[in-house]
Amino acid sequence: MILIAGGAGYIGSHINKLLNERGYRTVVFDSLVYGHREFVKWGEFVLGDLSDIEQIRLAFKEYPVRAVMYFAAFAYVGESVEDPQKYYINNVANTLNILKVMKEFNVKYFIFSSTCATYGNPVEIPITEDHPQNPINPYGQSKLMVEKILSDYSTAYGLRNVALRYFNAAGADPGQEIGEWHDPETHLIPLVLDAAIGRRENIKVFGTDYDTPDKTCIRDYIHVTDLADAHILALEYLLNGGKSDVFNLGNGNGFSVKDVIETAREVTGREIVDIASPRRAGDPAVLVGSARKTNEVLGWQPKYCMGLAPKTQ
Ligand code: UDP
Repeated sequence: MILIAGGAGYIGSHINKLLNERGYRTVVFDSLVYGHREFVKWGEFVLGDLSDIEQIRLAFKEYPVRAVMYFAAFAYVGESVEDPQKYYINNVANTLNILKVMKEFNVKYFIFSSTCATYGNPVEIPITEDHPQNPINPYGQSKLMVEKILSDYSTAYGLRNVALRYFNAAGADPGQEIGEWHDPETHLIPLVLDAAIGRRENIKVFGTDYDTPDKTCIRDYIHVTDLADAHILALEYLLNGGKSDVFNLGNGNGFSVKDVIETAREVTGREIVDIASPRRAGDPAVLVGSARKTNEVLGWQPKYCMGLAPKTQ
């Protein structure tokens, strides 16, 4: 059975769905602080918080856990700058709890949701896995700390793990059973679409003075179902004897904030008012990832972004 910590959230719930479709049995462990019970439509559910190690032990006693997938981190870059303690306690200390219980129960496989925010300001684009890691915000720091912990646990305890460094997760389940639902919503694409349907009056463009062709930030948007697929490939890689490793999950194509807004205008046919606004703390100008290693080692091929021509590169 696969335990999905944070499986009621945006990314975890899509992976839970795909795991069940591929015949895996799952148990979602989630505090529902940010997750949604309605999103756990497959497998078992345990209401629990990773800050409480006894609750984790209970779940491991109840279910025969073979591997753990972890999605229980807080992931708001701006908030992490304002309240770093919240990020270090949840994203680092609470992750140590589940790793401790895995060790107690001799569970050897761990898939970790890491992030391109561990790279900081890129010195080379597209970013490869061996790019220097110098995060510029506490969110990225917290993920990098866990990557280092995993590497030490792999050497010392034989914890076989894969850290997947996501670029910008986007989109929703093509079967429309689950989707993106953050409260508060801070991500560009859902906010732009909210503006298109009139749920918001406008979209703020955070920073119009970056060193990019149209002066707005460039990101690599990757469909959540493609992300889910990569997690299953990573799991199977470990179960088949693969060694601990890190992989990027990006497309190698960058789109600016203005590209995203313009594309939303074209696709929806709606007017979307954009407002030039100050930069958001902790945002690098360009984040675009190379997925070459992920393709070569895991055989991963993003399906939902094919055919999109990059406009800005
Ligand atoms: N962004 C923006 N306006 C918004 C939200 C986001 O201009 O209302 C920008 C943000 O500065 C970044 C890009 O859109 O350059 C993607 O941000 P998002 O929060 O979606 O993802 P992140 O890059 O933080 O993971």
